[in-house]
Amino acid sequence: MKKQKYRYKTGVQCPECGDKIFSMYRHDYKHCSCGLQTVDGGDDYLKYSLATYKGKVTKIVKKRFPIPKKPTKKQIEAYYERLTLQILKLYNDSNN
Ligand SMILES: [Zn+2]
Repeated sequence: MKKQKYRYKTGVQCPECGDKIFSMYRHDYKHCSCGLQTVDGGDDYLKYSLATYKGKVTKIVKKRFPIPKKPTKKQIEAYYERLTLQILKLYNDSNN
């Protein structure tokens, strides 16, 4: 078993409700539960809606997110092998 890999994402913390919100990719627009703070842009650019509110400053925060696992070469080969067998079976069935 391989260890789960993580990546760090930058987000913001709402000065009103305290929610930490993260934009995971470009055009991934999120807002906090009170609706005051928004974030957008993912890795391309971090865009957020306000810097200060009632004297409280929006905090820049970081969080770990798991990186989705990619299939291995073996898994891909096994997948195509199964697919080929299924096609052959369909072909044989239709010719009987
Ligand atoms: Zn909020």
